[in-house]
Amino acid sequence: MSPEPPTTSLPPPRATCVLVVDDDDATRMLVSRWLAKGGITLFEARSGEEALKIAEERGDEFDAVVLDVMMPGLDGFEVCRRLHDLPMTASTPVLLLTAHANDDKQVVLGVEAGAIDHLAKPFSGPVLVAKVKAICARSQRERQLRSKLEFAERHATVDGLTGLFNRRHFDKRLREEMAHAKRHQRPFTVLMIDLDHFKAVNDTFGHAEGDKVLRHVAAAMPKVLREDDMAFRYGGEEFALILRSTTAESAMSVAERLRQLLKSAPIELGAGGSAPENKVVTYSGGLASADQTNDFDGEAILVRADAALYTAKRTGRDRTVVASDADALAGPVSKR
Ligand SMILES: [Mg+2]
Repeated sequence: MSPEPPTTSLPPPRATCVLVVDDDDATRMLVSRWLAKGGITLFEARSGEEALKIAEERGDEFDAVVLDVMMPGLDGFEVCRRLHDLPMTASTPVLLLTAHANDDKQVVLGVEAGAIDHLAKPFSGPVLVAKVKAICARSQRERQLRSKLEFAERHATVDGLTGLFNRRHFDKRLREEMAHAKRHQRPFTVLMIDLDHFKAVNDTFGHAEGDKVLRHVAAAMPKVLREDDMAFRYGGEEFALILRSTTAESAMSVAERLRQLLKSAPIELGAGGSAPENKVVTYSGGLASADQTNDFDGEAILVRADAALYTAKRTGRDRTVVASDADALAGPVSKR
């Protein structure tokens, strides 16, 4: 499970757009004409049923709905309720057009159906335009706030360079995975990955090419991972995988598939320079599991995976080593 690549900017603001619903052709055209004169783009529907169909398909395209109350079939109150039950129009404001604006009962029904305001028929064109514009402006501000919030949430968990989850999200998911493993008495495995001779890439070809290598490795990961697996950029040239319900043995086959995939896809570095090079990216990996042998306790799992990674570096790189008790006894080590 990998996140979608992060977007680098917020969506641009778009033209104000309104859905006009009225069974009476003359009224609908009059409303549309006034709104068009106010610079608003329009959708039109002749009935409540047609309005709901448009809302289901293109509800994210309009900022407000101007809705007649008296219509054959579904009336305006019912359409208003149903619009707010649809995912795309759940928070789209509705302005009711009613011939009974002086009837308190009708007004109360409209408010209860979720309408934001109402306008009496026959209506004043300038008042209609002013109300609709104000409602749309508020609707657009709310949508922008929602976009900003989603954008911020996304950037809090995703590494901007590789599109993988970041270190901060790793720490959170590791704690959740430990709790899950204990509760269900099911193993999980962490694979720590450190690219081999990465410093030499930066020194020889520059940091932009180094970044290319990091993206190349990150792009390979989803191809070998299963649905429940998660890939993270841990920091620098270091990556981490959390493999749910996975023993060290199965995790080793994931690590091996990744190693082979990178071998089969060399990356061209220094293209356009005097000495471009097709480079096979290799990595050293350390695996550690939380399972019955350690009472599903993942507390020391990173120390053990790190120790195994150090062994992989020390014994020639381009390999993955499973944490053993001996590694655990060796304690935290510097691996480079
Ligand atoms: Mg009507």
